[in-house]
Amino acid sequence: MSATLAFAFLPPGVFGLLFILVFGFAIYAQFRVSSAYNKNAQIPSRGGLTGREAAEAVMLAAGIHDVTIEETDGHLTDHYDPTRKVLVLSSEDYRGTSLAAIGVAAHEAGHAIQHKIGYKMLDFRMALVPATSFVSKVIPFIFLASWFLVRGLTGTILDVAIICYAVLTLFQLVTLPVEFDASRRAKRELVSLGILQADEMTGVNETLDAAALTYLAAFISALIVLLSLLNSRRN
Ligand SMILES: [Zn+2]
Repeated sequence: MSATLAFAFLPPGVFGLLFILVFGFAIYAQFRVSSAYNKNAQIPSRGGLTGREAAEAVMLAAGIHDVTIEETDGHLTDHYDPTRKVLVLSSEDYRGTSLAAIGVAAHEAGHAIQHKIGYKMLDFRMALVPATSFVSKVIPFIFLASWFLVRGLTGTILDVAIICYAVLTLFQLVTLPVEFDASRRAKRELVSLGILQADEMTGVNETLDAAALTYLAAFISALIVLLSLLNSRRN
């Protein structure tokens, strides 16, 4: 869910201030990710492994042999797709040997490890994906309906909005332990496998910790919208 979507419903009163604070935090988190990534993308690792090789090494050490690694376009488009068992890396992380590239690649390998060992929160998150993508499609229509047809969020439309944001908030909440755990695994494996030296971990930590902030911002955004909707239902 984009932050813009979360701020589609601007309620009066105390929530107005909360929205501004959360919006500021979301922008700050995005700024931190960009600056941490750009900085550490300039620092080559001494070991010289590419992101692809690092992800492969982390997965092999965990006994994972059935996950393919693919290269894709775009900036920070890296992800692990559990349904296809594919680890997707952006070209700069796939081919790059920087601390940022290796950190991101190892983080995605962390998700592959979660999948292999049956990490419960990843299973829970995967189970929530269909409902989450459905409500993400419904929300713009709720916004349009409340704006043009009913002039405000009331009655059934308000209830539907609450259900949609409850699903989104739960999804963002479950995403937090999944993301934090993947980064924790990545940091541990990069050192224990000797892919990076201990003093190179600062760059990885900066990059992955900044990424964690964006997930936190997404959760808080969804939560504030949900609370404001519940509040307007009470009034
Ligand atoms: Zn992740």
